[in-house]
Amino acid sequence: MSDDPRLTIALSKGRIFEQTLPLLEAAGLRATEDPETSRKLILDTNDPRVKLVIIRASDVPTYVQYGAADLGVAGKDVLLEHGGEGLYEPLDLRIARCRLMVAGRPEAALVPPPARGRLRIATKYVRSAERHFAAKGQQVEIIKLYGSMELAPLVGLSDLIVDLVESGGTLKANGLVPIEHISDISSRLIVNKASWKMKHARVIALVESLREAVEAQAASGQ
Ligand code: ATP
Ligand code: MG
Repeated sequence: MSDDPRLTIALSKGRIFEQTLPLLEAAGLRATEDPETSRKLILDTNDPRVKLVIIRASDVPTYVQYGAADLGVAGKDVLLEHGGEGLYEPLDLRIARCRLMVAGRPEAALVPPPARGRLRIATKYVRSAERHFAAKGQQVEIIKLYGSMELAPLVGLSDLIVDLVESGGTLKANGLVPIEHISDISSRLIVNKASWKMKHARVIALVESLREAVEAQAASGQ
């Protein structure tokens, strides 16, 4: 079987792109355009065999699962929601680090108001929230949102939220406090299972270069 040397890597704009770039660079790959200014969704690199596709963070595992991209970079939060079918996750890139947490108003309790019987939890992270409260044996009502979770407890939509917290600044600015830690989050390199087999030499070489870049970054204290 020929080892097809062409690779497509799926990335999202913003912090993942910015923080993946130095790692790719250390692995010898440079994007020839900036996705923040370009309207193109497929970007060339200095290596004619490697292309980058720029998509929504939450769509990255789907593109990689179906083989539309061979590799991708996705937050563990997104991978927990996706479920990881069809993917390998060979490397923790240690970038875009934050925590998945339960948060609420300072007076919020972890017991439901008696009139309702169940706590309402607003979140984009439905699976992780369900799993967290189920593990505690707590029945909750999950309200799916797509963003600005911090608003929900302020307007009485929910008792609590489950959201990503980095410094806590956004919570604080909205009068909320972190209440329970669910998991530490960082971005992972993911690989389509068929690509892992069919493009083995090329994929392994890239994974190993990225692993060295991550270790070098960790050793330099970043
Ligand atoms: P979408 O546009 O698909 O809703 P998003 O708005 O979550 O995605 P980003 O904000 O760029 O996209 O987040 C991408 C990833 O970066 C998240 O999946 C998470 O892993 C990580 N992340 C999100 N917020 C933070 C944060 N405050 N600090 C560090 N990492 C974060
Ligand atoms: Mg965001």
